[in-house]
Amino acid sequence: MGEAERGESAPRLRISFWCSNEHETQPSFAHDAQVPETWDCPRCGFPAGQDRDNPPAPPRTEPYKTHLAYVRERRSDADGEAILAEALAKLRGEI
Ligand SMILES: [Zn+2]
Repeated sequence: MGEAERGESAPRLRISFWCSNEHETQPSFAHDAQVPETWDCPRCGFPAGQDRDNPPAPPRTEPYKTHLAYVRERRSDADGEAILAEALAKLRGEI
């Protein structure tokens, strides 16, 4: 039943998105797909939008920071979550 992944059978739209670092990315979408308002920039991880002059604001947290590092910074108001995250990471051998 699968469609050919690399086939050119369906027309595809290439939509340009720009992040706040002025990176352009052009994901392609099936012509009948719903194009999202924002797209994660593959270079910096910031959200990118279709309006080049008005890219979405970068997220408050640093991209690519691990969840655990993020939780550790906020330990004062996320103590329980941090402990749980650490315990889970240790279980998975990530530490
Ligand atoms: Zn970017």
